Amino acid sequence: MIIAIDGPAGAGKSTIARMIAKKMRFTYIDTGAMYRALTLKVLDAGIDPKKTSRIIRAARDIDIELVSLNSGGLKVLLDGKNVSRAIRHPRITKMVSDIAKIKGVRTVMVELQRRLARGKNCVLEGRDTGTVVFPKAEKKFFLDADFAERVKRRHKEFREKPDMTQVKADDVAADLRNRDTIDSTRKVAPLKRAEDAIYVDTTHMTIVRVINELLRHING
Ligand code: C5P
Repeated sequence: MIIAIDGPAGAGKSTIARMIAKKMRFTYIDTGAMYRALTLKVLDAGIDPKKTSRIIRAARDIDIELVSLNSGGLKVLLDGKNVSRAIRHPRITKMVSDIAKIKGVRTVMVELQRRLARGKNCVLEGRDTGTVVFPKAEKKFFLDADFAERVKRRHKEFREKPDMTQVKADDVAADLRNRDTIDSTRKVAPLKRAEDAIYVDTTHMTIVRVINELLRHING
C-alpha cells in the first residue's frame, strides 16, 4: 500500500508521516529530505545555482539512503555520509525550492522515489507524492494549517535545536512565504491538493488527533 501525504511546510507532515509509518511498519520516504540532500551536494560542490545542467547531472549521480531509526528519527545518508543535520540548516532551506523547481531535477528525483518504494508498503511525504510520484496511491492526504500556526511550529522546532536558538520568527515567516510561493507557482509538479486527497486542516488539532484521523481513513 502507498500512503501519500502532501502539504506546505509546517503543516505537520513529517511528524505525522513518520509516526504513521512506524505504527504500520511501513517504509517512510521523506521526499523533502531528498531535495535537501541534493541542495547540500550542489552547494558543497560549488556548483553555480544557475547552471541547471550541472545540477541535473549531480542529481543523476546522487546516492541517497533514508534510514528510519527506532527512536522515530530519520537518518539521511548522502553518498554514504550522514547529513541528517546538515540538510536542515537555513542555508539549505533557503535554496532548496529553487533547486526543486528544475524540471530535470524532478524527473530524476521522482524516478528515485519510485525506485525506493518499489514493492514495499510506504508512507511518502512531500509536495507532489499524491499528484505526480504516485497518482494511484491507495490513500492520499493533504495536510494544511494557517500560515501563522505553521510559522509558530517551525520557529519552535528551531528553538529546540541547540545551534539554532537564534533563528527569529520573522526569518522563519519569510522563508515559509518564499517557499510557499515557489513551490505552489512552479511549472512542474506545483504544490496542490490531488482531487482525491483527503484535506486535513491541522491548525487546531493535536498530533494524536491528526494521526487518529488519518488512521481512521487508512483502516476504514
Ligand atoms: O518537506 P521539506 O520542507 O523538507 O521540503 C523542502 C523543499 O523541498 C520544499 O520547500 C520544496 O521546495 C521541495 N520539495 C518538493 N517536492 C517534494 C518535497 C519537497 O519540491 N515532494
